[in-house]
Amino acid sequence: MGFSKFRKYLGRGISKTLPVKKRALITGISGQDGSYLTEFLLAKDYEVVGTTRSLDPAQLWRLEKVRQNIQLVQTDLTTYDAAAELLDSGFDEVYHLAGPSFIPFCWERPIQISEVITESAKHLLEAIRRHERKPVRFCNASSSDIYGNPTELPQTETTPMSPISPYGKAKKWTHELVQQSRETHQVFACNAIMFNHESPRRDLQFAVHKFTDAAAGIKLGRSHGKIPVGSLHTKRDWGFAGDYVEALWAMLQSKSPEDYVIATNKSYMVRDLIEITFATVNIGNWEDYIEVDPKLIREQDIEHLRGDYSKAYRKLGWAPKVSFAGLISMMLGEDIKRLRKNNMDTRV
Ligand code: NAP
Repeated sequence: MGFSKFRKYLGRGISKTLPVKKRALITGISGQDGSYLTEFLLAKDYEVVGTTRSLDPAQLWRLEKVRQNIQLVQTDLTTYDAAAELLDSGFDEVYHLAGPSFIPFCWERPIQISEVITESAKHLLEAIRRHERKPVRFCNASSSDIYGNPTELPQTETTPMSPISPYGKAKKWTHELVQQSRETHQVFACNAIMFNHESPRRDLQFAVHKFTDAAAGIKLGRSHGKIPVGSLHTKRDWGFAGDYVEALWAMLQSKSPEDYVIATNKSYMVRDLIEITFATVNIGNWEDYIEVDPKLIREQDIEHLRGDYSKAYRKLGWAPKVSFAGLISMMLGEDIKRLRKNNMDTRV
């Protein structure tokens, strides 16, 4: 380890050197990925600083266990000055996770959503580029939505981007900005092309958690009528968020900045998701509890996503650990625990 990694100090007349902790900034720290990444980095002895738009404890429930060990900064990163001021305190690594993640909402407010996604990345990258003190490594939460209805299966880092949603279009723009910062300005910037990933900390509006929560409720005798569903045939590649944040970290430890697909290379229909969920808690025929609601079928939707993570495996040694059935079982277990405590919100 080089001298720069040590901070010298004198105490009781003895000269000692201590390794300097790495400092990481996580934007959107209060979200699903932010909370898992925080725990992962703290376990690696990082100093963690995170941004949030609100310091209301109710919004920070996922950070409850680590709240005392991190620093929170209230900002929305919609101006260059906010990003520059934040970066000024010096970071080794920046994980840019802040932004809306629920795609149906993005169709309702396309301009606002696009602005949030593109502006925050633009300001952070510009502040990193102008930062004079030391190089900062940057990881951007890109998304499989950049592909739209993909032209190849499975999707890789070279699959053409042809997004259809406002969310996907804004993610494509930031994805390309990251590539440009890397190629033109030599910024150590990477895109994590993350496919759907879930956990017990996911908001209940997302498909996997919606069905595990409903099945857990039925198991406990708290039936709430038919569960509305859109298309049963949509196919997605679902992984575990705790696995995916490890890939983000590995990308920033790499020798050179590159983009990586982070996925499981397995896809399931929504119908499979429901069937496995109901079978896991053994509550009878899933079709008795489900009702297709045409209002939930999106006119423009991506039919099939499946990501080939072989580059991440080859270059970073990363592979998902939790299987689809394991993920469902984990989420059901936590939902049952939470509902037993009579806590009906998404906290676990
Ligand atoms: P999440 O749970 O929704 O967390 C995102 C965080 O970003 C929120 O906690 C929120 O923190 C902040 N945020 C939300 N809307 C914002 C806005 N309009 N302006 C500024 N900040 C906002 O999402 P996640 O699952 O952790 O995902 C993290 C990142 O990965 C997101 O950028 C998402 O688009 C991307 N991604 C996720 C998936 C997935 O399946 N989960 C897949 C591909 C890509 P505050 O309210 O505290 O500010």
